[in-house]
Amino acid sequence: MLNITNLNKIKSQLNKQTLIAVTKYVGDEEIEALLSEHIEDLGENRVQVLLDKYERYLGRGIRWHFIGHLQSKKVKKVINKIDFLHALDRLSLANEIQKYRTTPLACFLEVNISEEPNKYGLNHLNVIEFMKKIIDYDKINVIGLMGMASHTDNHGIIETQFQKLVDLKNQISLEFHKDLQLSMGMSNDYPIAINMGADFIRIGSLLYEEE
Ligand SMILES: *Cc1c(COP(=O)(O)O)cnc(C)c1O
Repeated sequence: MLNITNLNKIKSQLNKQTLIAVTKYVGDEEIEALLSEHIEDLGENRVQVLLDKYERYLGRGIRWHFIGHLQSKKVKKVINKIDFLHALDRLSLANEIQKYRTTPLACFLEVNISEEPNKYGLNHLNVIEFMKKIIDYDKINVIGLMGMASHTDNHGIIETQFQKLVDLKNQISLEFHKDLQLSMGMSNDYPIAINMGADFIRIGSLLYEEE
């Protein structure tokens, strides 16, 4: 069930941010409720689930954000159904997108800001070099950076990790004359992300919490 109280609270905290409702845990009831509340930016992290929901909600004005790890072999099936990719993290994936996407795709480069070894994302030291490699890919429009902070109650740690994304954004904006956006902030840490200049926040569990 959609938690309208939490949704309204989150909405009241937004300034410029786009709220992406992550629907990976939920189904039709919640999606219909989100659409009734005019939330049309939805996030999914599994290809088959996104494809099913894409078909079911065709023509309903949804912008689909793919937020999870995308396997190269699945690119062909899904890449022309999405509006945003938040997890571009390697050249092999960029190559598949360039091959199968028909129009430029708005992409966020995923940066492993927590530096946990089992997490996906580019090392922050390699982001500029990666940008240079894909600069001529006409099907990839890098519009920003995405990062996930460690799941912790320690605000200092979260701020240090988000700051890496902010610093990189500023560095890239200078070097490439491109004003990048930030996709950061989840249920656990979105108020911090908003304070630090996030443009897109991706919220799942908090939207569906029982009252
Ligand atoms: C699941 C997920 C979210 C939402 O997480 P919550 O903690 O449920 O808000 C955001 N971003 C990504 C990449 C996710 O996989």
